[in-house]
Amino acid sequence: MNKVLVLGAGQLARMMELAGTPLNLDVKAFDVRSDKVVSPIYPDRIYGDLQQGIANADVITAEFEHVKHDVLAECEQSGKLFPTSESIKIGGDRRLEKALLESCNAANAKHYFINTKADFDNALAQLSLPIIFKTALEGYDGKGQWRLKSAADIDSVWQEMSEFLASAKETQGIVAEQMVPFDRELSLVGVRRVNGDVAVYPLTENHHTNGILSVSLAAPVDSQLQDQAGTVFKALSGKLNYVGVLAIEFFQVGEQLLVNEIAPRVHNSGHWTQQGADTCQFENHLRAICDLPLGGTQLIRPTAMINIIGEDSVSDDVLSIPSVTMHWYKKGKRAGRKMGHINVSGDNEQQLAERLQKLASILCKQAFPDLADFANAYVNKTK
Ligand code: ATP
Ligand code: MG
Repeated sequence: MNKVLVLGAGQLARMMELAGTPLNLDVKAFDVRSDKVVSPIYPDRIYGDLQQGIANADVITAEFEHVKHDVLAECEQSGKLFPTSESIKIGGDRRLEKALLESCNAANAKHYFINTKADFDNALAQLSLPIIFKTALEGYDGKGQWRLKSAADIDSVWQEMSEFLASAKETQGIVAEQMVPFDRELSLVGVRRVNGDVAVYPLTENHHTNGILSVSLAAPVDSQLQDQAGTVFKALSGKLNYVGVLAIEFFQVGEQLLVNEIAPRVHNSGHWTQQGADTCQFENHLRAICDLPLGGTQLIRPTAMINIIGEDSVSDDVLSIPSVTMHWYKKGKRAGRKMGHINVSGDNEQQLAERLQKLASILCKQAFPDLADFANAYVNKTK
């Protein structure tokens, strides 16, 4: 079992190929834009269409949850798809996701589903401002969301949402969620094998800039929180009979974790594992879907991941900082697009904080607007 087909040919498939090659795994990707099977690292190399890709693969997986349902059905029919199409679809539909959370008693924000004005009025009556509205399908990087903060904006928000619903396909809908006054955003990346073996990485602290993940920080965590997150991971992954890497995003409110959403795939907040963990998330995902023993998920050194958004170069001077690694995705430059990431590690948190500060002083402030503040606060915290 060594031929893997990934649905989606973006950076996650690319990093799977990079991690899979030393394991003697052959990773190809189905590019949903061209309908062709390609090499994720060398996308000019084409290996036929989806049917040929399915026939040639031993196992099939996905790098994103918005895969067309007919494609998922075709892959599932082959008996090679991991995780199941059900898991992938749940990750792509906030209504199914909320139902899964409820069925597993996983704490999450109070929410209501909206298709009509009556649903909207009901949600307003049951929730208190501020409320966040999210499209049920196709949301990512904070896109497809409305935030209602003041009663004066109720009519204009409904106007926008009703126009959106009228123009969207019939299966689309909106989920209204209570805005959570969280202390921090955390995520847990974990992996489950066919035989039910589970391994989870340490909780990662996530920071967003303009709705897009900008920094993830992996450092030793409070064991009570880690246990809470691990329990949720076991419940959700067990319920789905999940195989592969699954990420869970949380809001921390006091000592409690509320689930925000899940991602049935390797996740941006797990990229730090390439330098900070015993085995990276990409290798562990491949190990799980190929039914190989899972690799260690322990933190080997505090590590931060900084997303490079909308830029196709950074100063070479960043490489003068010890334990900095660059990960470019070879994508065309576009504003707001994830183009690559930087991992930086330290022997301890203080050293990591100092290296982050140095990094912030080298990187262009416009492209990394919040990094200096984050690094300064971290230096003060770890002094
Ligand atoms: P991504 O692709 O980055 O995961 P997304 O488009 O799937 O984002 P969410 O993760 O649901 O959307 O929301 C994006 C961000 O909006 C969250 O990381 C959080 O900062 C904020 N947010 C979402 N829901 C809530 C909530 N109920 N209360 C407070 N903040 C929220
Ligand atoms: Mg999210």
